[in-house]
Amino acid sequence: MNFVITETRVDAETGEWRLSAPRRAERPGPASSGCPFCPGHEAETPPTRLRVPVSGEEPWRVRAFANKYPIVSPAGGDGVTATGLFARFPATGDHEVLVESPDHARDLRFATTGEALEVLTALRSRAQALASRRPAAVVAFRNYGAAAGASLPHPHSQLVALDQAPPGLVSRWRLARGHYTDTGRRLVDDLAAAERSAGERVVADNGVLVYQPYAASVPHQTVLVPFDGTGTLAAASDAGLAAVARTLPPLLRGLADVLGDPAYNLVVHAGPTDVEDREVARWWQWHIEIQPRTTAYAGLELATGLLVNPSRPEETAPELAKAMSAAR
Ligand SMILES: [Zn+2]
Repeated sequence: MNFVITETRVDAETGEWRLSAPRRAERPGPASSGCPFCPGHEAETPPTRLRVPVSGEEPWRVRAFANKYPIVSPAGGDGVTATGLFARFPATGDHEVLVESPDHARDLRFATTGEALEVLTALRSRAQALASRRPAAVVAFRNYGAAAGASLPHPHSQLVALDQAPPGLVSRWRLARGHYTDTGRRLVDDLAAAERSAGERVVADNGVLVYQPYAASVPHQTVLVPFDGTGTLAAASDAGLAAVARTLPPLLRGLADVLGDPAYNLVVHAGPTDVEDREVARWWQWHIEIQPRTTAYAGLELATGLLVNPSRPEETAPELAKAMSAAR
């Protein structure tokens, strides 16, 4: 087959997985001329998988296609599997790019509610398509700024279907499922009730709960929970997406305001896609987390895994709440 196998290597000392994806190094840098995500450059990317609108109107408003430099390989390759100290296996799944706007400079924070909803609806549609093969999980994320790993500045998100769930994801699911087994309630709901009751870390609570977590790992780490009773982005309700569409752009404008347009990673924490969503939604709710990249990892983090947050969420949440109200 005509692709380079990306592989998962297991660190024997930590049990953590690492993806080895050599083709990623071929990605164009920001200095390369022309933008392959701009309208008129469609031939420079893999074929269109989704276009909004479906046909006609030029340019398109949203467009999705396979990532030219995938971090996972299609299933069915001849990758090597090994166990022991040098354990490895092929990293299989699918990796897509979703361009959020035809306008190179129209970042998601400037989107109208209608535009944001169109992007979220397109992401759900692609998440459904990727989930239909029943991978272990479909992860959606948005890297903004070079320090957050964005190789091209044109506004875009990415979706990765992973055939095997990595330990970090399994550990989150295990905690949430354990809480459900112990209490009959969802961890996300209990956490929301506790945050609302404490109040001091709540940024906004209008259809979507926005808060900065108690044990935030970086300044202005922020969580958005839509509470639409679904476990994965693929199963998200129209009401849940609409609520996020109203909240996300002003939140991103608020973050840009308080931190001076920081690089950040936005991720959708999704439940498993290899079981029915109604089972997943008993103990998991898809939700969004944003981590601004304003701090660097240092020796203590490397030696112990302990992240040092130089600020307290009780102090930063009110700042963001104020900036977000001003940005509405
Ligand atoms: Zn562009």
